[in-house]
Amino acid sequence: MIKLRDKAPVRTCTKVYSNYRSYKHYLRSDFNNRCGYCDDYDGWTGGEVTYHIDHFAPKSKFSSLENDYSNLVYACSFCNRFKSDDWPSDSQKISVVNNVGFIDPCHSSYENLFFRDNYGNIKPTNELAQYMYKKLQLFLSRHRIVWNLTRIKLQLDNIRPLLKEHGHDNEKYKRIQDMYVTLSLEFHDYLDYLLGEKIKNG
Ligand SMILES: [Zn+2]
Repeated sequence: MIKLRDKAPVRTCTKVYSNYRSYKHYLRSDFNNRCGYCDDYDGWTGGEVTYHIDHFAPKSKFSSLENDYSNLVYACSFCNRFKSDDWPSDSQKISVVNNVGFIDPCHSSYENLFFRDNYGNIKPTNELAQYMYKKLQLFLSRHRIVWNLTRIKLQLDNIRPLLKEHGHDNEKYKRIQDMYVTLSLEFHDYLDYLLGEKIKNG
């Protein structure tokens, strides 16, 4: 079983601003450049400017939390839009009622809600996770594609220096080169999916 994310986000910013948008840079860092909900790396869509600031407890219902850093989540435009101002109770402290609602991505129990299958698809583990999965549309193929692009990019980055280290006329170089080509082809396929040149679900 693969974990949803390698590193859990932690809110560390201690600054106080009167406008929540001022926190974006800190939020991005605290969330490891990833959407708090789906863990998509922001680099694939253009970084910070393309990501949103989600209010965990919606600011439309709890205006006192509008500029409260502990209520902010760095989120991709998909998760932020799908979550919108959905909230299961009249209290800012009650985020789940009868397995309907949300867990704060910075809460340790978020780790237990989801895992990834071997293809990188996000899978829910219980009824509450199932609610979030449907509400946030975590079944979208883009989450699998972005996860794989990030994974393969890291592997390519690790192999590339090795290609330069070895002379060209030996078996080891050939093996590394083959591996690099295989990964590059896989990377290119996922990039095509992301760019919409090949629309493929599942
Ligand atoms: Zn997301």
